[in-house]
Amino acid sequence: MTARPASTAPPAPGATDLGVPAVRPSDQTAPMPLQMAPKRRGKPPKHFADLTSAERVASVEAMGEKPFRAKQLATHYFQHYTSDPEQMTDLPKATREALATTMFPPLIRPTRRLEADGGTTVKTLWHLFDDAKVESVLMRYPNRTTLCVSSQAGCGMACPFCATGQLGLTRNLTTAEILEQVRAAFRSLASGEIPGGPARLNNLVFMGMGEPLANPRAVIETVKTLVAPEPEGFGMSARNITVSTVGLVPAMLKLADLGIPVTLALSLHAPDDDLRSELVPINTRWSVDEALDAARHYFEVTGRRVSIEYALIKDMNDHGWRADLLGEKLNARGRGWVHVNPIPLNPTPGSIWTASDRAVEDEFVARLRGHGIPTTIRDTRGSDIDGACGQLAAEEDDE
Ligand code: SAH
Repeated sequence: MTARPASTAPPAPGATDLGVPAVRPSDQTAPMPLQMAPKRRGKPPKHFADLTSAERVASVEAMGEKPFRAKQLATHYFQHYTSDPEQMTDLPKATREALATTMFPPLIRPTRRLEADGGTTVKTLWHLFDDAKVESVLMRYPNRTTLCVSSQAGCGMACPFCATGQLGLTRNLTTAEILEQVRAAFRSLASGEIPGGPARLNNLVFMGMGEPLANPRAVIETVKTLVAPEPEGFGMSARNITVSTVGLVPAMLKLADLGIPVTLALSLHAPDDDLRSELVPINTRWSVDEALDAARHYFEVTGRRVSIEYALIKDMNDHGWRADLLGEKLNARGRGWVHVNPIPLNPTPGSIWTASDRAVEDEFVARLRGHGIPTTIRDTRGSDIDGACGQLAAEEDDE
């Protein structure tokens, strides 16, 4: 995602300051360090959405309330999208104040709202309890709605073409901090705030700030609650949830075993280790072949077709031979298990990199299709509001 750099000063080693333009690491500065774990910071307060169903019941009982109050609260939160005690008129007044204050501490606060596409694309900047900042983007299409959420404040993966990659990692989000982004989206769609009449949220992509599989515990708990039937959760369909990763292989294998067939997207960006190690530094830990094997394994276990993301960067990774090599590597692992989403690069401010020319993009797509690989250029909605999430916009529906 795209917190816009605020200064052009080079980063102090390990700094998480905002504001470093993306440059080719070899051009001037030392590459950003990889950060697998965040620095320790205070924890956000526990929230109803952090809890399992059994824990919700235990929590209301611990407050001296009847267990059925947990279901009432869940209905307000997951079906009416509210945590406001004033609206919980089926609870006694004194009770609802106490319950709401304890169970629904404020976790995220909108501080900026940017609109594009006639109000059907909305990016929100959120401040967290410790003033860490994240973004989410809601996109409404004629027949579907998609929310792009952040799973970390900043990101430790240091991809040089990605604005968030230049921020460094501030911290992991909790389950409830992610789910609060989702509740806000359901709420603004249900209330008719987005042009087109009241609607439900259909799709969710973990393509905002952060590397979701570097925060697996919170992301997996979030997914469980997203798919739990109402009122235990939001009742979303697993296939409409996409977890996008740089290729953290062990976490990809764990995700396959979760038994919730979300869609997996692998940010590949190059089919050869030399270039990929520069574009996606974690490649020095898990190579192209290892990441592709893990993606193929994900398909075998879940039956879900995997997406390969490929930001097309002019004269960097957009060569015909790279399209051919990608096609060969994918076909070597079978047919029908994968599709490719080339994404025109959304240049980050100050970056020396730009999107590929249209003709080059077309040739790249044509070569992949020539190998029999389903390939769709990703829509770049929201690029005029400083990109969307991860400077991406929509999850292209592959169904
Ligand atoms: N960390 C995860 C998810 C966040 S980014 C991941 O890397 O997959 C979501 C997608 O946006 C990734 O494929 C990422 O590589 C891509 N992206 C990041 N910066 C971009 C840019 N400037 N232009 C186009 N795509 C970009």
